[in-house]
Amino acid sequence: MPRNRRHTWPCAFAALALALAAVCFGQATRAAESLAGTEAAADIAAFFEKLWPAAQKAGIARALFERTTAGLVADPDVTGLAAHQPEHVKSAGAYVAHLVTPARIEAGREKAIEHAGVLAAIESAYGVDGRILLAIWGVESAYGTAKGSRSVIRSLATLAIADTRRAAFWKKELLAALRILQDGAAAPAALVGSWAGAMGHTQFIPSTYAAHAVDFDKDGRRDIWETVADALGSTANYLRASGWTAGVPWGWEVALPPGFDYGWSAPGRPRTLADWQSAGVKAAGDSRTLPPPAAHALQSLQLTLPAGARGPAFLVSGNFRALLRYNQSTAYALAVGLLADRIGGGPDLAMPWPADDRPLTRAEREELQGVLSWWGRDTGGRDGIIGDRTRAAIRAAQRTFDLAEDGHPSPELLHHLRSSGGP
Ligand code: CA
Repeated sequence: MPRNRRHTWPCAFAALALALAAVCFGQATRAAESLAGTEAAADIAAFFEKLWPAAQKAGIARALFERTTAGLVADPDVTGLAAHQPEHVKSAGAYVAHLVTPARIEAGREKAIEHAGVLAAIESAYGVDGRILLAIWGVESAYGTAKGSRSVIRSLATLAIADTRRAAFWKKELLAALRILQDGAAAPAALVGSWAGAMGHTQFIPSTYAAHAVDFDKDGRRDIWETVADALGSTANYLRASGWTAGVPWGWEVALPPGFDYGWSAPGRPRTLADWQSAGVKAAGDSRTLPPPAAHALQSLQLTLPAGARGPAFLVSGNFRALLRYNQSTAYALAVGLLADRIGGGPDLAMPWPADDRPLTRAEREELQGVLSWWGRDTGGRDGIIGDRTRAAIRAAQRTFDLAEDGHPSPELLHHLRSSGGP
């Protein structure tokens, strides 16, 4: 749920581990070492003392602050998890295959029946498709079976100390977590979650809880930890605040015509469904149909190729962008959308993911950026992060070499650039 610019993460909060691993590997490792000894208690006590003025300003009582932080030691597992995540991310296909499994689809269908009344009530209150809520629940916590049991205060304090690059972010979350205790919304022992401080059935971080959690079952508590109605209602409320439009699908798998210009998959080139259809874009497979163009004529639909030109293609709506606000990863939003479709009885993808698609290693990503820079393309630095500028540079290089302009950082592209000269 925290917003982050990185794309293609293996799971909602392992995503943060990857972010930390990619950017803060050194700091986190050093922090894990420095926190391992007896100095750790002193370090964390000093950290909390420095945090106190901000906590006081956030309305935290001194007694609660002392009670909560006294004797707390850093969680070495948290820095370990942050530091020892694999540096490379999964391909979009591997990520989706890991999450959209027969077991998760079947469990989602069972939950749809079990919670039919609540889902209908949430849909009518917020306009968010119940299948999307089930899919988020399934992806985030396997329908409540993997909510995480670590102390949120301890995890966030550990990260605020260890992850110097994002210290301000973790401190803000820590203060929001203290505020949850101050308000009595959760008992200290119940304030548990993932190693990154994500809590409950749909893994809200504390600031998202503060801003968007709702008491959907009207029992006087916003309980995202144990009450399914509150967790799913809160998720719908958050999606609506993120721009969700009622009645609009997240997107569709599509088939592209021969000779299609893949440059149309570049960010910021949305067109109406009617325009895409005039360009020869059709529903993928025989069992799917696109809605009549007029039904979504005003929607700006973006073409997305998560595995490049060789993989499945999707037209995605503004609701896909709302899912990206939940977790800024194309693969994440796609896994949610596809799981929702399958829970609703939809077919599997018509186009298989390319079996040999693999993400570049960090060294390869840096090398790719180096080669692109040598060719005069601006990648926004050689940081190993494939952001919008690197993708734009890839597209420009693909144009130069007359390759499909899909912006996909594949090993084949790197090989092509290497063998075309360069540094
Ligand atoms: Ca409640």
